[in-house]
Amino acid sequence: MNDLPHVLDGVVIAAEIKAEVAREVSDLSSRGVRPGLAVILVGEVPASQIYVRSKVKTCGELGIYSEMLTPPESITTDEMLALVAQLNAREDIDGILIQLPLPKHVDTKRLLEAVSPDKDVDGFHPVNAGRLQSGQPGLAPCTPAGIIEILRRTGLPISGQNAVVVGRSDIVGKPVAMMLLNESATVTICHSKTKDLPAVTRNADILVAAIGRPGFITPEMVKRGATLIDVGINRLTDPADVQRFFPEDAERAAAFAKRGSVIVGDIDPAAFALSGAYTPVPGGVGALTIAMLMHNTVKAAKLRRGIASERR
Ligand code: NDP
Repeated sequence: MNDLPHVLDGVVIAAEIKAEVAREVSDLSSRGVRPGLAVILVGEVPASQIYVRSKVKTCGELGIYSEMLTPPESITTDEMLALVAQLNAREDIDGILIQLPLPKHVDTKRLLEAVSPDKDVDGFHPVNAGRLQSGQPGLAPCTPAGIIEILRRTGLPISGQNAVVVGRSDIVGKPVAMMLLNESATVTICHSKTKDLPAVTRNADILVAAIGRPGFITPEMVKRGATLIDVGINRLTDPADVQRFFPEDAERAAAFAKRGSVIVGDIDPAAFALSGAYTPVPGGVGALTIAMLMHNTVKAAKLRRGIASERR
């Protein structure tokens, strides 16, 4: 029996989901429906431009219609609201995504709430948060939904497991905790005020780290055999940190020498050796996010037309 930890390969699972979405898109086309996604990208934030480009590219690969709107940095909240209202009214648009962050002068909360909940493919609208909580069909946030797909498709048990989520943001921590609860895990949510965090995390069969601090979860905080889900994406630029997290890792040392930075998650990679299964960074949770966005766009197209989905 091999007791090495199982690597939960997000890239493979994302490819599986994208293939399913492509099949659904082709089924819809036989009914004369082509799902459509509109992405609003304000200003010139290089990281956002990269994300948006890869979302639009994936739409093209899967047969989803996409449209990119690129208003200037100077756009006002009212002008953005008018743009969203137009997209809400369009029959050919099923999903509306507002790429964050927005310029400081734009009221992000108001805008996210202006998107029709039925086209809210990011799952950020309070109506969708409520639907998730009450178990009604709706659109769930992509990163948390990707985490559940990883667990489910790998056949890892969720029901009855002690799941500990570190982080309580509206986009990751809270929704993933709710989804784990909906899957009948016993869920504990931790945050910066949690007392004796290691005592709580050591009790986790499933530990989800969504903190935004490099290597914050250390081996001492992990129960042997646990499933470790690392949501964090942190850029290391100090060679001492690279050496600390990735000693004797020639591949990462070379990547650092070339690019001047490498990525580490919120879990110290040394903890992975203790786990039963873990998501690597990169190539774990992050790989699922765009696939789940595509899934949500098709789901929105079906929900709006009253077409049943095979999956939730
Ligand atoms: P937020 O900054 O919104 O939330 C961080 C959470 O961590 C907060 O709830 C905070 O607690 C908690 N926290 C901070 N310090 C501690 C501490 N010392 N002990 C315990 N809890 C602590 O981050 P996000 O949820 O937006 O993102 C988390 C990470 O996930 C980031 O690295 C981000 O880049 C990554 N991410 C990855 C995605 C992907 O596709 N893979 C998508 C989205 C995010 P409190 O509430 O008390 O302040």
